[in-house]
Amino acid sequence: MIYDCIIIGNGPAGISAALYTIRSNMKTLVIGTGDSTLKKASEIENYYGFSEPISGEKLINEGEKQLKRLGGTILDEEVIGIDKENVFHVKTAKNEYQAITVLIATGQKRVNIRIQNLKKYEGKGISYCSTCDGFFYRGKKVGVLGYKDFALSEANELLHFTDDVTIFTNGQKTEFTQADLVGKFQINEKHISSFEGEDIIEKIVFEDSSETHLDGVFIAYGSASSINFALKMGIVTQDQSIVVDGNQETNIPGLYAAGDCTGIFKQISVAVGQGAIAGKNMIDYVRANRK
Ligand SMILES: Cc1cc2nc3c(=O)[nH]c(=O)nc-3n(C[C@H](O)[C@H](O)[C@H](O)COP(=O)(O)OP(=O)(O)OC[C@H]3O[C@@H](n4cnc5c(N)ncnc54)[C@H](O)[C@@H]3O)c2cc1C
Repeated sequence: MIYDCIIIGNGPAGISAALYTIRSNMKTLVIGTGDSTLKKASEIENYYGFSEPISGEKLINEGEKQLKRLGGTILDEEVIGIDKENVFHVKTAKNEYQAITVLIATGQKRVNIRIQNLKKYEGKGISYCSTCDGFFYRGKKVGVLGYKDFALSEANELLHFTDDVTIFTNGQKTEFTQADLVGKFQINEKHISSFEGEDIIEKIVFEDSSETHLDGVFIAYGSASSINFALKMGIVTQDQSIVVDGNQETNIPGLYAAGDCTGIFKQISVAVGQGAIAGKNMIDYVRANRK
């Protein structure tokens, strides 16, 4: 089955877009892990229509109820990749879904990885994209930093270039759901202290002072973010945000972005507004391109 619209992210931007696409009779699938940054906001008093402060959690729950009342469904899966081949292919750890249009509404990733020298070796052995840089590590010893399915999928991708791939979780408990992939890799759960090397990365040093030699490290910490999708697909970005036009469309036709991932004034009202604009333009795109 090919969906008209797949919306990645069930925060204000994604749900707002889905309200429009569903009410225009578009076959819509919302995929989201339910980890909106809004859940961290205890009192919101600058969003239209509430005379008293409302919690972020309540706002999110009401939005999801509104979507479900209109017949929408939210799939609780982590998206690990998007490809375009005639139509869009949206991959999760469990399934692959196809659609004519896709909206990235994944918010802005706020992962603070406290490992010394991480920035220093970016582009010098530290990479954020296996598809882009895996080729440089043919036959070499590489690590993937992460603990979720996204890390597992990056590690699996790297097997095309080398069979020496270790996943480093940096003290996090693994949250892998793909049992068939887990056995392929060594998993190291030690806390990492620093990356070291002369001009390029040469080793990982752990908090217990032990070390491991490595030629490269791929960062896949937490869920795949808008920037990870952008790197793999060639979506134009600026300052860690996706660049969109006035229709919320990226440089790839049929692929839209809305909310915090576009980096434009990170507020609920903006996310909801951008979601509405994206939804409307996805509808127009589907009507113009549906065969
Ligand atoms: C502490 C705090 C207080 C705030 N207070 C206010 C306030 O008072 N007023 C205001 O206007 N704004 C406030 N904000 C900002 C507001 O929360 C954001 O602007 C808004 O939530 C952005 O919506 P979004 O839909 O773009 O992203 P998010 O709300 O972050 O939603 C993104 C969704 O995408 C999902 N997702 C991410 N990656 C994947 C993946 N790979 N696969 C599947 N799903 C994925 C997440 O689980 C999440 O559900 C606050 C933010 C914080 C942190």
